[in-house]
Amino acid sequence: MRGPSRVRSPLRRLLAAAVVGCALLPAVLEASASGSTSGSGSARPAVIGRKVVGHSLQGRPIVAWHLGEPGKKKVVLISVMHGNEPAPRRILTDLRDGAPVHDLNLWVVPVYNPDGLAHHTRKNAHGVDLNRNYPYRWAPLDGGYESGPKPSSEPETRAMKRFLARVDPAYVLSFHQPLHAVDVTQRPALSKRVARALDLPRTRLTCGSTCHGTMTMWFNHRFDGFALTVEYGASPPASKLAAAPGKILHLFGAWRGGVVGVS
Ligand SMILES: [Zn+2]
Repeated sequence: MRGPSRVRSPLRRLLAAAVVGCALLPAVLEASASGSTSGSGSARPAVIGRKVVGHSLQGRPIVAWHLGEPGKKKVVLISVMHGNEPAPRRILTDLRDGAPVHDLNLWVVPVYNPDGLAHHTRKNAHGVDLNRNYPYRWAPLDGGYESGPKPSSEPETRAMKRFLARVDPAYVLSFHQPLHAVDVTQRPALSKRVARALDLPRTRLTCGSTCHGTMTMWFNHRFDGFALTVEYGASPPASKLAAAPGKILHLFGAWRGGVVGVS
């Protein structure tokens, strides 16, 4: 039981009451002063802040966890953009729940599409593929790549746009399944390093005629930083996922205290 001096419980009640359809909350939960304690009360020494960047159609919060050191190189990691691609989430939660990160200003968004995750669907609760809803080379697509009625029609899309614009990271890694490859369409030298670090093949993920309105295309057009798609297989080995956090930190010249995942 929490004592009366704790403010977290009333805040959570407020959030629960206001969450449906509310557009005002994204900035409310700006990182707390310490950020070292999770909502569940368990210690997360790596976390220096927690931010609800927006809400899904069904009112679920989209949470970004701030790790590392402000002032260092900014990197954003995103997983579960498609709700039926949950495996790479483990990489991000391992970073969040592990030892403090050093020499990197790191944000992780383990569940970008919480409604899709809840319903085991690729798309959001509107039946829209978030990775076709961004306002760069958007096109009206139907079926498996339903792109929505217009660019940025979905709250999840607008939330991530705001978040990425505010953070303005040098690098974004967007984790997916099941194509088992790292895209080398742009910045092939860096992509090659990522592929080698994560023990994944390299390929050109051109997605044929359906490559419209993707998050990485939008980001790379809009910002100086570089966003890269990383695809794991349908059933990536647990050992590969367990090794990935340390490999990613090493890739960006970062490390974390303790020995979790880092050799
Ligand atoms: Zn995907």
